[in-house]
Amino acid sequence: MAPNNEKISTLISKEELQKRIKELAKDIGKDYEGRDLLIIAVLKGSFMFLADLIRELDCHVGIDFMGTSSYGASTKSSGEVRITKDLEQSVWGRHVLLVEDIVDTGLTLRYLVDTLRARQPASLKVCALLDKPARRRVRIGLDYYGFIIPNAFVVGYGLDYQEKYRGLPYVGVMEDEDQHS
Ligand code: 5GP
Repeated sequence: MAPNNEKISTLISKEELQKRIKELAKDIGKDYEGRDLLIIAVLKGSFMFLADLIRELDCHVGIDFMGTSSYGASTKSSGEVRITKDLEQSVWGRHVLLVEDIVDTGLTLRYLVDTLRARQPASLKVCALLDKPARRRVRIGLDYYGFIIPNAFVVGYGLDYQEKYRGLPYVGVMEDEDQHS
């Protein structure tokens, strides 16, 4: 158990996460049957989701990572997107699945999708574990999503608050943080 979890209430349990990820992997596996898939995970928050997802996937997958600027020390989005780590391999002509932890305003995803599209993959789809539509600022379609969640700052299962709580096996809500002022 992570420290200070008395401030965090469970939103999505470990069991619910694992069940939904199995379903997602089944859908993705079916859609990419017979094709080599390159999964691009967005650091850092998606690492745990990625690890569980690929263990359930019944197809060949390559993995690469991109890093973007995040909230830093605050729970408010700066609205600014910056690539902090780029891919190690080319996406040209490949079937790419972009894996995100959470889509909030959608600005990060919009930027990543536009950036990757310009590099001409054979196909590009998006999978996000959590979809928080209440604060969306740009239109962006998700090909696969795990859960739609309310407008709250969540932590756990890879997601942090000031680098804490990433190791929680569930998704929880920070009760003391108010990001909606
Ligand atoms: P967006 O660009 O869609 O506003 O935000 C995307 C990124 O912001 C996510 O990849 C994640 O790093 C961060 N983020 C958005 N909402 C939350 C949240 O509720 N909790 C945490 N820990 N990070 C969030």
